[in-house]
Amino acid sequence: MGSRGGGPQDEEEGMKNTQLIKLSEVQDSFEDREKRMGQRSETHSCILCGRKANKHFVAMTTACNLIPMALAKTLDVDDPTPDGASGQGCFPIGPECRRKIPAEFVATAKELGF
Ligand SMILES: [Zn+2]
Repeated sequence: MGSRGGGPQDEEEGMKNTQLIKLSEVQDSFEDREKRMGQRSETHSCILCGRKANKHFVAMTTACNLIPMALAKTLDVDDPTPDGASGQGCFPIGPECRRKIPAEFVATAKELGF
């Protein structure tokens, strides 16, 4: 699915520079997350490490890439994301893991209206 011939319709400026973060590159192992998460629900557990989290969020696509919040906010439900997937919504991220992610990928619950 990688190649799509460069026709006259190139992607919009800015879009091709969009940086994505592969979830698998920043996420702890499933076992580690399970252990830390315990009885907690996923809506209150950091998507990266499973620790308690409910103040900050990252936006993820259905291909499990994190996308910048500024981009996520402009996407409609049916809009394709830069990785050719679609938006999957926002997921909690804990205070420690937040430091691994550039600030433009993170929004507060307040900013998102949660
Ligand atoms: Zn975490």
